[in-house]
Amino acid sequence: MIDDNLTHIHAAITQAALQAKRNPADIKLVAVSKQVDIEEIRRAIACGQTLFGENYLQEAAGKIPHCQGATSWHFIGHLQSNKVAQAAKLFDVVETVDRLKIAISLDKQAKLLDKNLSIFVQINVGGEKQKSGIPYEDAENLLRQIRQETDLPVLGLMTIPPFSHDPEQSRPYYRALRDLARRLADRQLFHDNTNVELSMGMSGDFPVAIEEGSTIIRVGTALFGARPLKETSQ
Ligand SMILES: *Cc1c(COP(=O)(O)O)cnc(C)c1O
Repeated sequence: MIDDNLTHIHAAITQAALQAKRNPADIKLVAVSKQVDIEEIRRAIACGQTLFGENYLQEAAGKIPHCQGATSWHFIGHLQSNKVAQAAKLFDVVETVDRLKIAISLDKQAKLLDKNLSIFVQINVGGEKQKSGIPYEDAENLLRQIRQETDLPVLGLMTIPPFSHDPEQSRPYYRALRDLARRLADRQLFHDNTNVELSMGMSGDFPVAIEEGSTIIRVGTALFGARPLKETSQ
């Protein structure tokens, strides 16, 4: 089943990329494995999937050490400051940085661990109170501060748009994130300003996100099936 799902997702990635005159190889698939057990993750690894995303630290700590062959783990949940050490230990990329304080302590932990940790800054594109992330207008300031006060490479921006069953509803938010990333890259605020990553697009809307410039899609349900209903909003 995972095999078929992966095949379908890769076909959809290719189709959306070609539609947008982009190279399908420029789009990375993060398999979101929250609430997915170790056996399923291992099946995905056996099918060639190497990049995974997790939302909850405690859950991830019980799984990551048992998933040989996964080459990169992205943290995509809300990060509390008292959990930063654990996040730095378990993950290669933290996609959800939205405060200077978190960036500074991630940097400190990465140095203690002698580990190459990279980050994304999360933007709350819909201005939703229950979601993490910073408003568009605060992004430049936060990126400048992170650059001044840490050595963490900021790879790009990440977002979760307001929920909708209609993928077209996500398009303006994804377009706005891409435009923001361009402006910030013009000001040289990323680690690699000619190659800024955009983590946007989930099971319900990733083709639209790819058309709007996504370089990383985070897909759970379309790969592993529906999760038990136990979601906290991020
Ligand atoms: C759960 C989650 C996803 C995956 O969502 P699906 O709709 O299952 O693909 C992607 N990004 C974040 C931040 C998530 O929490």
